[in-house]
Amino acid sequence: MNKAHLSLIDRLEKTHSLTKDEYLILIRDLDDEEDAYLAKKALATKEQYYGNSIFIRGLIEVSNICKNDCYYCGIRASNRNCDRYRLTPDDILACCDEGYVLGFRTFVLQGGEDGFFTDDVLCGILSRIKERYPDCAVTLSLGERSADSYCRLKAAGADRYLLRHETADRTHYGLLHPPSLSWDNRMQCLCDLRECGFAVGCGFMVGSPFQTEEMLAGELAFIEAFKPDMCGIGPFIPHKDTDFRDFGAGSVAMTCRLLSCIRLIHPTVLLPATTALGTLHPRGREMGILHGANVVMPNLSPTSVRKKYMLYDNKLSDGDESAQAVQSLRARLQSIGCDIVVARGDRAQINEI
Ligand code: SAM
Repeated sequence: MNKAHLSLIDRLEKTHSLTKDEYLILIRDLDDEEDAYLAKKALATKEQYYGNSIFIRGLIEVSNICKNDCYYCGIRASNRNCDRYRLTPDDILACCDEGYVLGFRTFVLQGGEDGFFTDDVLCGILSRIKERYPDCAVTLSLGERSADSYCRLKAAGADRYLLRHETADRTHYGLLHPPSLSWDNRMQCLCDLRECGFAVGCGFMVGSPFQTEEMLAGELAFIEAFKPDMCGIGPFIPHKDTDFRDFGAGSVAMTCRLLSCIRLIHPTVLLPATTALGTLHPRGREMGILHGANVVMPNLSPTSVRKKYMLYDNKLSDGDESAQAVQSLRARLQSIGCDIVVARGDRAQINEI
């Protein structure tokens, strides 16, 4: 093992900060043993704040109708082969009812940018969920909205908001999105969300088209500076009906390495082992957790729509990805020394240690 590489990892563990050039070394130059050393440090850091607990979130995919046309996404507006659906407020409440019995205490409402979900509609849904389940957290992941809208949703009871920035590089953003979408607005939304009091999640795809190792180093520098409460990263996976159908998928190993880096950068960050990781590798979720992730988000959408929220080819939605299989997921996680807890799963406070 290269001593300089190990000392970089040690320094990241202690100071939670490296330069962009140093992040590039971790991304580009680690061998397998050094990679294992990084994972071990990340896992120990996760355990320091969260023990062996894994938080679960019930993911409710509320609509695959989207006005945007992101070049990578299977539910992009121009995909005529996408069979569109939208859940009603009653459908969403019924998902929460089912999830609560299964032990979920966070519900994540995610969807395309569907004009049906106005502030009034969403505030109505939020107050019904919060009235029925005051002990639960609600996370929204509904894309770009105005600062005023975010603040209304927060006031109506939403706790957290996930908005992946997708790439920290403005030029790269332009290669992944149509001109109607801008990197500056995406970043402004993240600031607005924080300003409104949300626990904020950002994130990016690993191995998205045109991404370079230097850009990945930039992602880590961005995460270090922005300090998100949550960070969703997963490998890019092509979708057959998008412009990027012929690009290769991102790497599971690189995603895991970045998860470890992010854990060391922000020890208390809520870090999911994503569905995309589970889709590319049968043990992807476990691998993510062994590299420092502490959240899994099983699918709580009605079974009739699950296959329609197809962001990329072969996206998992059944088997252990299904909320109903939470006991089987628990057994799998126990086999790697972790346990699912029935809790809201808020971010640990640094002064709790
Ligand atoms: N509309 C909301 C938004 O823009 O944040 C939430 C839904 S969006 C479909 C959720 C995430 O799916 C995106 O942030 C993106 O990172 C991810 N995603 C979309 N297409 C993907 C693909 N082909 N491979 C991997 N992840 C993808």
